[in-house]
Amino acid sequence: MKIRTRFAPSPTGYMHVGNLRSAIFGYLVCKKENGDFILRIEDTDQTRTVPGATEFIYNTLKLCGLEIDEGPLNGGDYGPYIQSERLHIYDKYAKELVEKGGAYHCFCGEDRLEELRKEAELKKVPFLYDGHCRNLSKEEINEKIKNGEKFVIRQKIPKEGTTEYEDVVYGHMSFQNNLLEDQVLIKSDRYPTYNFANVIDDHLMDITHVIRGNEYLTATPKYNLLYDAFGFEKPTYIHLPWVVDENHKKLSKRHGAASFMDLYEAGYVPQGVVNYLTLLGWSPETTQEIFSLEELIQAFDPHRINKSPAVFDIKKLNWVNAHYIKKLSLDELYVITYPHLVREYGEIDEEWSKHLISIYQNHIHYGKEIVDVTKIFFTKEYNISDEAEEFLNEDKETVKKVLNQFETDINDLSDWSVEKITELIKEVGKKVEVKGKMLFMTIRIAVSGEMHGPELPDTIYLLGKEKVLENLKKI
Ligand code: GLU
Repeated sequence: MKIRTRFAPSPTGYMHVGNLRSAIFGYLVCKKENGDFILRIEDTDQTRTVPGATEFIYNTLKLCGLEIDEGPLNGGDYGPYIQSERLHIYDKYAKELVEKGGAYHCFCGEDRLEELRKEAELKKVPFLYDGHCRNLSKEEINEKIKNGEKFVIRQKIPKEGTTEYEDVVYGHMSFQNNLLEDQVLIKSDRYPTYNFANVIDDHLMDITHVIRGNEYLTATPKYNLLYDAFGFEKPTYIHLPWVVDENHKKLSKRHGAASFMDLYEAGYVPQGVVNYLTLLGWSPETTQEIFSLEELIQAFDPHRINKSPAVFDIKKLNWVNAHYIKKLSLDELYVITYPHLVREYGEIDEEWSKHLISIYQNHIHYGKEIVDVTKIFFTKEYNISDEAEEFLNEDKETVKKVLNQFETDINDLSDWSVEKITELIKEVGKKVEVKGKMLFMTIRIAVSGEMHGPELPDTIYLLGKEKVLENLKKI
């Protein structure tokens, strides 16, 4: 049997990293077995639908290297892949289910439901529809429909027994049927709910593994009862733990790192994000942490997904992403850093900025960070860090000697190049008989205020003679 998984987002124009992780896990599960990865757009809640959202989803998955085998834009044998184009299908299956006795027409209006809700609240019990319309006769139903009464179709859940299933991550799940609600399958506007459409679509699209957030864990027994009522074969379920923030709250949209596009725009490398998100709640058998997509496909085993909430750790993401930054060509690095420099500091010379960006390649974790680490090149801001201050105070005499000579020689240097500056520093060392850390660190602190940074001659070259002399005066 061919493995088929699907990513089924709502077209909201927003990709939460938790959703993207569901897509990645779905992709890995099917690609490990050379299966098919399907994109299905779940737009039955039309109020949440945003124009252009399908293209946005394609674009996001493409950036991440997750190739879609079938979907609304590239087609396939199981279409349409947009739920609002499948209404006739849900309608047909809903009728069939009513015939089979697995669903019923419900005419209860909002007022009555509101009463029930209030009652439940007073009794401090969860609200469950009371089955008022479960046993209407065919004649009563036809009469009401003829009179133009609005209705929904509800699932008829057995009142007794339990419904059980195995989840790959959460293990054996068991639910008492009398606690499951006769949920709405078709709304009064004739649109299906997610609860109905996902079952029909997953069946008709031959989906073998359903990978989604664990908010569906407790609704799944109801879906299984639908599968049984139709006589459909059930898929394998892989429910994923929540992604939480540092305070163990569900990672909300307001959190800076929650949106893939925000990360992308901040200059994170999509493959780095994919690598990190895969490690979010999943661990390989080895201690390897940096994986290409191909390596992830080989290593991925859904049984190793951890069921406790996965904490989104920006430091770890940065660490992973820095590996990907290091591997970029200069042109690629330029694309994800240069716009940030321009936005912050205005137009800058291309050659100069490429040189600047190149020396920071091993120092930044994501593109936008270039703005902070290169401040000294653009502003008058010059702060000596505490540790640098301490270093300078250890041997004031030598520091003075080095900096006086350096200032004189820099002043006299006519050929401003990295090579000449490299030679100059060595010469300064010889003249004052200081070498190693005392020489290099002293000069580094004097020109940049920092103890750490990229190659010193490049830093001096890019700062320019004027600025170097200016900074030396501040010491
Ligand atoms: N449309 C659902 C959501 O975005 C999909 C859940 C699923 O994968 O079944 O939450």
